[in-house]
Amino acid sequence: MGRPPGTGQPSGSQPSATGQPSGSQPSGSRLPPGARPTVVWPTAATEVVGVIGFPVRHSLSPLLHNCAFDVMDLDWSYLAFEVSPRLFGQAVSGAESLGFRGLSVTMPHKDAAARLAVRRSVTVRHLGAANTLIFEPRGVFAESTDGDGLLDDLRKGALFDPDGRHCAVIGAGGAARAAVLALAGAGAKEIVIVNRSRPSAWRSAALAPKVARVGRPDELIGMDLVVQATPASMSGVDRTGDEVVPVGAAMSRRDAAPANFDAVTGDESAVPGEEVSAVIAGVDPARFGAGQLVVDLIYDPALTPFLLEARRHGAAVRNGLGMLVHQAARQIQLWTGAEAPVSAMWAVVGGDASEAAGDVRPVAPTAASDEGEGELSPLGEAGVSGPIEA
Ligand code: NAP
Repeated sequence: MGRPPGTGQPSGSQPSATGQPSGSQPSGSRLPPGARPTVVWPTAATEVVGVIGFPVRHSLSPLLHNCAFDVMDLDWSYLAFEVSPRLFGQAVSGAESLGFRGLSVTMPHKDAAARLAVRRSVTVRHLGAANTLIFEPRGVFAESTDGDGLLDDLRKGALFDPDGRHCAVIGAGGAARAAVLALAGAGAKEIVIVNRSRPSAWRSAALAPKVARVGRPDELIGMDLVVQATPASMSGVDRTGDEVVPVGAAMSRRDAAPANFDAVTGDESAVPGEEVSAVIAGVDPARFGAGQLVVDLIYDPALTPFLLEARRHGAAVRNGLGMLVHQAARQIQLWTGAEAPVSAMWAVVGGDASEAAGDVRPVAPTAASDEGEGELSPLGEAGVSGPIEA
């Protein structure tokens, strides 16, 4: 038996891309006086999955997964659990004992998730990190869907196939390592890794010794694909690599999509004045240009200073929303055995359903966007702007 209709979304309000209901939430009871409440769902038979992280209250995952279960007519429910590292092991054991079907795992628990599993996929064994736990009769199985989620989005959303292409990854944390492994598996000809500290960059390069190497920021000019996989552009902060002097592409925060940018409506309230740098680990996006695809794994803000600067100079840009959607879709397939409704999942986070079908064509940057004024196209709408060579 599936869910009753309409249980996948908060009632009475349309969720925004940030997962927040855009209308005001009713307070107190909405029942007429004397009426009896009729709660029909969830029931004793409802299957439970969720995301475990710290913090996790900002997560879009409940929105994505519950939307999918609703469309799939599955009696499943997905919740968010904020659990400190000290309690992570106990929480997972408890979830397994309670009969949860699985868990999504986010920061800072991905390494611990890989360690506690009794069985691990090849990808997890290489990465030493997992974003998905599946509770099986034989015990906990750990998988990582981040890398494949990125590949799905590159191929279906950006119409970019890494096979034989020159790629670069900025950062050497969990997401960056997943990207390196996935790009190498997809046949990338070369993967240049740039990170502020070199030891972690070397460890990341060791994941794909035939094609990956640690490089210099200026080597990223002209690369087919650049993946920005640090949290630095989230607030526009920057820290220079050990051996690198940043070129200093400072931009006004007014030009960046602010944190409360709504990818559904395009509404934004600019925060004028404060200067932030778009340079990350010595990589200046002002030196990118036409023919390059620049992906920032961050999706909130929808357009980071890094992406805006790259787009302003002619590169095609894409944020991390598509990777988020596709890695979630793969988790759903792992847990339920059924294909996830990617188009609906895109739509619920403010994206364009046609993207899932690969219908999106790159669009040229507008004069307004070149100026950093006027309309900022919601990245969720198409996810790609600027010219790319498909
Ligand atoms: P992580 O494991 O903590 O790694 C962070 C990496 O970024 C490290 O290599 C670190 O350098 C570097 N870094 C941190 N702050 C920096 C700064 N100010 N300047 C330059 N480099 C900096 O994090 P993660 O899990 O890989 O996540 C990275 C980003 O990807 C986050 O913003 C996360 O939200 C995003 N993400 C998105 C998705 C998606 O589905 N779209 C999925 C996963 C992650 P050092 O090695 O020198 O410390």
